[in-house]
Amino acid sequence: MIPSHVVNRPTGRETGSFLALDLGGTNFRVCEVVLDGHSGARVRQSKHTITEAQKAAPGNELFDFFADCVYNFIAENGQAALTKKYKLGFTFSFAVNQVAINKGFLILWNKGFTNSGVVGADVVALLQAAFHRKKLNIDVTALVNDTTGTLMSHAYIQPSTRVGVILGTGTNCAYVERMENVTKYTPTDTPDAKEIIINMEWGAFDDEQVVIPRNKYDVKVDRTMNVQGKYTFEKMISGMYLGEIVRFVLVDLVKTGEIFKAGASPELNKPNHFETAFMSRIERDHTLDLNDTRTVLEDMLKIPRTTLADRRLVKTLCELVGKRSARLSAAGIAAVVTKMNKLDGCTVGIDGSLFELYPHYSNRMRDALREILGISAEYVVLEQARDGSGQGAALIAALADKQ
Ligand code: ADP
Ligand code: MG
Repeated sequence: MIPSHVVNRPTGRETGSFLALDLGGTNFRVCEVVLDGHSGARVRQSKHTITEAQKAAPGNELFDFFADCVYNFIAENGQAALTKKYKLGFTFSFAVNQVAINKGFLILWNKGFTNSGVVGADVVALLQAAFHRKKLNIDVTALVNDTTGTLMSHAYIQPSTRVGVILGTGTNCAYVERMENVTKYTPTDTPDAKEIIINMEWGAFDDEQVVIPRNKYDVKVDRTMNVQGKYTFEKMISGMYLGEIVRFVLVDLVKTGEIFKAGASPELNKPNHFETAFMSRIERDHTLDLNDTRTVLEDMLKIPRTTLADRRLVKTLCELVGKRSARLSAAGIAAVVTKMNKLDGCTVGIDGSLFELYPHYSNRMRDALREILGISAEYVVLEQARDGSGQGAALIAALADKQ
């Protein structure tokens, strides 16, 4: 439960041009957002993939890479643009102890990052220093979690938004809390603030492992992926892990002789070779003999020969793991909305490739919400907040001006 230092929700009337830099986990984006003051925004962006090598490099190299990307992005506006002064919102989607709107210390890495020299450091200062090294005239005015960004950007177009959720590489949630309930934080710069956005870091929910039932595959995923014993809720839900859960089950089924009797493949034994995107493809395969599932298994995973029974079993398995993910994230939303006392109506903005691309994901969430909340589930509206995290950072940079 991390106070975001964001105490204003947007009105939709904010204007101006801002930069945003969005580090999610898989992708890294630079955006220029021009707010039109009528709940609309024009966005130009460039997208980059973070390589495994970059995730393990010394921290300064990672931040220099960010500065290079921003430099090239601004240069597209012409050489003169490079000397212009910009305000930038930094979406940094990791557990940060945020002590001011533009200052926060990384508590721990997750999602496979291990860069040295960043844990315990102020990530805004690291980014600012990288901009200085690159002689860019950019002021990092806001540090934002992607959940907060998503909540804010969705509130810009839909004012009833009170919750922001990420279902991408990782999973997390932010919601609007009444200030009197936040005992760990006193808003010294904004003493009149009535509410504040809280970044829940819900991926770390139940790391004590006493509430949620887990199976041996969850334990295996936890053991083999960073950081052991941490973010165990996230490891049952998000894109970085679902495929790996399925792979571990398949490896087991091969061992017990229940699948791929004609033989498995070295690919199946390689960590992370069964991508969550494969699950989407398999779940979307409605052909009679599961042809597309065959393509995934035989062409991409190099399984020599599969039977229809094999493919059906794989499909059922994907369905089980995918459904569980959707139901657990819905359980989280039900808990948050109940805690907020917003069962009379609340919009939840959701961003991330898993929610956007995984078939049936939102329907499965809806089903679970109905089971948990009954009729009240009808008033909890789940909406796609596409690319909310970057635009939200720009909005917060705009509001930080006023704060
Ligand atoms: P980030 O979390 O880095 O901001 P995204 O929201 O794009 O980025 O999420 C990336 C994650 O989404 C990856 O871990 C990947 O497993 C998952 N993903 C990508 N494509 C699909 C797909 N077609 N179906 C399900 N999950 C996907
Ligand atoms: Mg993202």
